[in-house]
Amino acid sequence: KAKKTAGKEMEFFSKNIDREISRILHLKETIRKLIEKNHVIVHYQPIVNLLDRKIYAAESLFRISTDDGKIILPKDIIPVAEETGLITDLGEKIIQTATGSGKELNIPVSVNISAVQLNRPNFDSYILDILHSTGFPPENLILEITESSLIENISENIEKLKILKENGVKVAIDDFGTGYSSLSYLKNIPLDFLKIDISFIRGIGRDEKDEMIIRTIISMAKHLRVLTIAEGIENETQLRFLIKSGANLGQGFYFYRPLEIAELKRLISGS
Ligand code: C2E
Ligand code: MG
Ligand code: MG
Ligand code: MG
Repeated sequence: KAKKTAGKEMEFFSKNIDREISRILHLKETIRKLIEKNHVIVHYQPIVNLLDRKIYAAESLFRISTDDGKIILPKDIIPVAEETGLITDLGEKIIQTATGSGKELNIPVSVNISAVQLNRPNFDSYILDILHSTGFPPENLILEITESSLIENISENIEKLKILKENGVKVAIDDFGTGYSSLSYLKNIPLDFLKIDISFIRGIGRDEKDEMIIRTIISMAKHLRVLTIAEGIENETQLRFLIKSGANLGQGFYFYRPLEIAELKRLISGS
């Protein structure tokens, strides 16, 4: 009897797997076409100085518009894009756009880099070539990298980041505190910013452990002489706590949502 049940379960799973595979292939094809048709849009979320709320930089965040004008968000396609290798084309479009159009902003622009992109052997020269061809100043480029993508090939990746850093490019660890951090690599990577993950910011005023983690990250960042950026600030309570704890910069709906480039330009020029 047990055997019979197991057989049925197998059949059930393999049907589901087939369906999942065809869903992924369909999604991949849809996205590939949309990338080809230039439906990749880059929005920019201002990163402000917490004390005076002046715009310090902007994070580029991609969206894809469908043929009928709907917007696809990163969370709905990044897993598929990474599994199918599409992330390479997509990442290329994003960094071309962010450095091409972002140049006119005249402020630092951060770009999220996926594990697949970072772990390519020629990642450093790839970035330098793009900077060269777009004329974007390297000092204004911040690469946002997660802990987990960094540790895949830790020593090679540190070398690539060192070369980029020698050329002026800046590095931020994204979603800090959520990956498998090893404190020993933190002292070896050329680092400019630590981005405190939104999950800790959500706990402010609600969970003393989250507050303790935030204070610890900030204190460590100060010793490492890197700036902290708090993600996902949504209210005054969170802002007050972060200022009191010594965080430097922040972004979130409390200040600005991700904006179209024209809107951000207007904001910066004050018109
Ligand atoms: P992330 O890099 O941690 O980006 C921050 C995310 O938090 C963005 O979501 C942003 O819209 C959202 N956010 C900002 N302020 C608030 C807030 O106050 N409250 C809440 N609830 N959310 C806030 P988004 O644009 O949906 O992007 C999600 C993730 O997708 C990003 O997380 C990043 O990991 C990835 N992603 C976005 N753009 C790119 C890209 O160009 N390349 C790659 N490889 N990944 C990207
Ligand atoms: Mg980011
Ligand atoms: Mg983040
Ligand atoms: Mg995040």
